[in-house]
Amino acid sequence: MNGLDEDQVAHLVGRLKKQKKLLTSTIGAHGESDANYLAVAGEVHDSGDESVADLLGDIRISSQYRAIDALTEVDEALQRITDGSYGRCIDCGEEIGFSRLVAHSVAKRCINCKEKYENLKLHSSGPSL
Ligand SMILES: [Zn+2]
Repeated sequence: MNGLDEDQVAHLVGRLKKQKKLLTSTIGAHGESDANYLAVAGEVHDSGDESVADLLGDIRISSQYRAIDALTEVDEALQRITDGSYGRCIDCGEEIGFSRLVAHSVAKRCINCKEKYENLKLHSSGPSL
């Protein structure tokens, strides 16, 4: 098993579901604000300052993408709880540990593999940054 007892799993499921609710409402709220965005974009278009509208659009879209990404991670974590792979590192198979999961409930890797993975990512994206 993943080294977690029933209470710990229940606690983490509770956290994940809360996150999911929050993210879903964030994404929903952004959807509803489209009308406001268009109104603002329309106004600044008239004043000839389109860059402000572009900027607002970029912020709106990137925060929505972030929320969608985060929601995907939460859904994947809930799926891993269902199939029993939750709480184990996807790289080395070691237990991730309850305290790390409380801090980061969508964690897929133990702290060692996470550091390795992020170093790799950092280096592979190298000079273009
Ligand atoms: Zn690992």
